[in-house]
Amino acid sequence: MKLHLSVALAAVMSVAAIATASAEEVNVYSYRQPFLIKPMFDAFTRETGIKVNTVFAKKGLVERIKREGRNSPADLIFTVDIGRLDAVLQAGLTQPISNANLNKKIPAEFRDPNGHWFGLTSRARIIVASKDRVGEDEVKRYEDLASPALKGRVCTRSGKHGYMVALIASIIANSSEEATQTWLTGVKENLARKPQGNDRAQVKAIKEGECDVAIINSYYMGNMMTNEEQAPWADSVRIIFPNQSDRGTHMNISGMSLTASSPNKDNAVKLMEYLAGDKAQRMYAEQNHEYPANPDVVWSALVESWGEFKKDTTPLAEIAKHRNTAAKMVDIVGYDG
Ligand code: FE
Repeated sequence: MKLHLSVALAAVMSVAAIATASAEEVNVYSYRQPFLIKPMFDAFTRETGIKVNTVFAKKGLVERIKREGRNSPADLIFTVDIGRLDAVLQAGLTQPISNANLNKKIPAEFRDPNGHWFGLTSRARIIVASKDRVGEDEVKRYEDLASPALKGRVCTRSGKHGYMVALIASIIANSSEEATQTWLTGVKENLARKPQGNDRAQVKAIKEGECDVAIINSYYMGNMMTNEEQAPWADSVRIIFPNQSDRGTHMNISGMSLTASSPNKDNAVKLMEYLAGDKAQRMYAEQNHEYPANPDVVWSALVESWGEFKKDTTPLAEIAKHRNTAAKMVDIVGYDG
């Protein structure tokens, strides 16, 4: 009797195992919020029949994949910022893929040269300036933020935040460590207050007259414009795409990586290709007022209204190499006070 039971149990279990193995699915661990990615995943499932299971968390997903080891169900990791994408790669949790479709649709500067991560959306690190207190041509370049004319008029979030570290790293990549440190010291000396709050808090501070100029990610302008309480903050500033006469505006990305232990690799690659395509690119970028990574895809009307601009095309993989130096520099100049 006991034997029969265990045979029966084994039979049930193997059926279950087969069902799991043959189910058409793909598992995504995401630091990006569900409302941003779910519409595209639903469209993918409708078109392919492949189910997308999502685990969303604000932190700890990398640690979770490490803990789960080879048995991790995760196929793909979604995150923002070159720093986080690079950290997943450095932790050894990704595998490279060489895929002609992805390489064609995602520009070289927005993907790892070895195929460990691919950008899906991009954002410009823009300067915003008070419409009332800053002249049209007063601020044109990131370098201007260190000019004595802006003494006591600049606000930013902490220099240690990934967005700031990437910007500083991009300036190192485009000039030198020495020049960047001189610049960062100049910006620190121009600060109206100790770095604090998120990007939107800087715009609020401009609205309230605490500062005149700030650095923020472009999509926050869209987020504020479509938010009743924050729309007046956005309305108090002018968007400046820095460095149009030279290297262009610094760009960062949100992106995806295929995990080293991906149990559903074929489906995962299908999803990656789908997300680089026109329809998903448009949906994804529009959700958060970002730029599609794929340059052939149309921008949303709101983002389009900010105008065309020249982007800094320094590869993010190159910028990532200067992140540690940039983060140390923030401490050396005492940026956060
Ligand atoms: Fe953000």
